[in-house]
Amino acid sequence: MKIGFYSESVADQAALAVFTEGILGEPPEPIDMALEGHGVTSVLSLLANVFRGVYYNSDAQGLVVVVDCDDTELHSPDHDKPDGEGKRCRLCQARAIVAGAEKNLKRRQGRTELKVAFGLAVPAIEAWYLVGKNHQVGEAAWIVGLNAKNPPFRRRELKQLVYGTDRPSIELETDRAKEEARRILDNITAIEMAFPAGFGSMAREIRSWKFK
Ligand SMILES: [Zn+2]
Repeated sequence: MKIGFYSESVADQAALAVFTEGILGEPPEPIDMALEGHGVTSVLSLLANVFRGVYYNSDAQGLVVVVDCDDTELHSPDHDKPDGEGKRCRLCQARAIVAGAEKNLKRRQGRTELKVAFGLAVPAIEAWYLVGKNHQVGEAAWIVGLNAKNPPFRRRELKQLVYGTDRPSIELETDRAKEEARRILDNITAIEMAFPAGFGSMAREIRSWKFK
């Protein structure tokens, strides 16, 4: 299955391809279009354009979109109910942006529907890379920390833990991200359990593509 990945950096996108291999049980095929990473503030603002570009100009069958949560709202199953979307939830925002863009698509001949899965990393995707290594990562610990006004991790600390520096080069970032994703690949259940809303729901969406 040809799948494109869109998130804050190309390093994350490379790791998402590895995670998707674990989710699908086979490596996703690359699409014939390069997607750039766009930084935390731009991922959402550029998403409609990226989605349209992938739909019209690539051979992708699926697109995986992952946003870092930072200090915004965590996604919850309640958001999946009709009119339940979280106003400060970036996963819900991303879904709404794609749903809006889908309404105006012109059907392309020979083009199958472009399926989209959404993930939300709490507080940043580096937390996903620490599953199995650091037991404090996970949505449950994050919620407890937020309620106590003492979040278990800051973005910079996570980077430090994963890359050994909070300002990694893109090469180092890509190598480390892929390495950790490959380590976790054999135990996708562990990451789904640690991050049920942000990773688990994305994994379920991706799995559902296989059988259509
Ligand atoms: Zn949500």
